[in-house]
Amino acid sequence: MDLSLDAPLRERLAGIRALGAGQIRPLGLEADRLGRPTPPDHDFFKLLVERGQGRTRWKGEEADDSKVREAGAQVGDSRSFLCVSEEMSYWDRGVAVSFPGPGLGEPPLLSMGTPEQRRRFLGPFLEPDRPRWGSFAMTEPSAGSDVAGIRATARKQGDHWILDGDKSFAANASRADWIVVWASVDTKLGREGHRAFVVERGTDGLGDFSVERKMGLKAYESTSFTLRECRVPAANLLGGEAHYAQRAGFKGAMRSFNATRPMVAVMAVGIGRAALDESLAFAREHDLGDDPRVRDRLERCRRKLRAARLLCWRAAWLADHGQPNILEASMSKAVAPVAALEAASLGMELLGEVGARGDHLIEKLFRDVKAMDIVEGTGQIQRILMARHLVGLPRD
Ligand SMILES: Cc1cc2nc3c(=O)[nH]c(=O)nc-3n(C[C@H](O)[C@H](O)[C@H](O)COP(=O)(O)OP(=O)(O)OC[C@H]3O[C@@H](n4cnc5c(N)ncnc54)[C@H](O)[C@@H]3O)c2cc1C
Repeated sequence: MDLSLDAPLRERLAGIRALGAGQIRPLGLEADRLGRPTPPDHDFFKLLVERGQGRTRWKGEEADDSKVREAGAQVGDSRSFLCVSEEMSYWDRGVAVSFPGPGLGEPPLLSMGTPEQRRRFLGPFLEPDRPRWGSFAMTEPSAGSDVAGIRATARKQGDHWILDGDKSFAANASRADWIVVWASVDTKLGREGHRAFVVERGTDGLGDFSVERKMGLKAYESTSFTLRECRVPAANLLGGEAHYAQRAGFKGAMRSFNATRPMVAVMAVGIGRAALDESLAFAREHDLGDDPRVRDRLERCRRKLRAARLLCWRAAWLADHGQPNILEASMSKAVAPVAALEAASLGMELLGEVGARGDHLIEKLFRDVKAMDIVEGTGQIQRILMARHLVGLPRD
């Protein structure tokens, strides 16, 4: 496994650092102060698109081979994607998720979608003419970790599917061109009844968008919405009917998570690094580094964050090489948010009343970081999956 960063990636990371200090972090602090997401018509998003952000990782029709489908990601560039995600999250993870792009809707399109669906839904993200977003909606008010419990239903009617249900906490849903929505053809079947649909903005019956209140990460919208007799063309069933034979629907969702878990994990590393830097700056200013107990705890945080990053890179390396990464994806997701939370907690302790007043970055990072243990499968769920894997039990 080659751990070096090539020159174009180093240059890209330097660009993000400049954007991070100048705009990403200030925007994140502003959204946190105002308690609402950065609006979709903000000039920052237009600037990003002009600078080549907000694009799909899909390389177009010629790249549409079976390896891409298998890995659920664009084979070959997962690690550079992780490096970029970590750096953006260092500056502000909420703003990073608010960036235009197909977002968490992209992995299922890559891994499950037909070439025609990728062309229709990812094509506009190849060279977007304006800020565009995609979204992913699995979670429901009464179904989070237990995805088998989703209650949104899908029934076929002629050449359409009729969707009914409630979704919650979907990133960027109200501003998205389309949302990958999971629903069930028969709730008694559990995961085997699951189907994924691409629901386009403006579809009749898609509505009631409401931005959720969050303790942190306020720069991007986490949104609930409803589907009421929502008529979706049959062509928008992700992968087509054939895909869902032999539990492929659920496997498709899990493949998506194998691509996105290391990404969420490395974002936690970014937040943790920011927290560690705040602690280090404070420690230097107040000569706390002379205290071996403080030094030891700071060093432990750095060590754990670096180890967590390596787990993320390993999961990405496997994906890049078309190899299964279920275990490594879970490991990265179980380890990184805990390491990042430790770094943010140490910062709160060291800064004491300076941090507790509520107007210091460390306090925001402390609120931001908690969600990283929750999204894309909680740490607890990852530990359950890994323990089952260790003793040779099936995933569910
Ligand atoms: C900031 C944020 C962004 C999000 N973005 C999205 C998004 O874009 N799209 C989307 O679909 N969802 C999104 N979610 C939802 C997220 O995926 C769920 O919150 C997550 O799956 C956990 O579900 P839950 O909140 O219902 O908690 P629950 O599943 O109710 O879990 C509550 C607690 O019980 C534990 N627990 C659950 N089951 C078990 C078990 N079997 N054994 C032991 N412990 C268990 C959990 O670990 C957790 O600690 C987001 C959530 C947040 C907070």
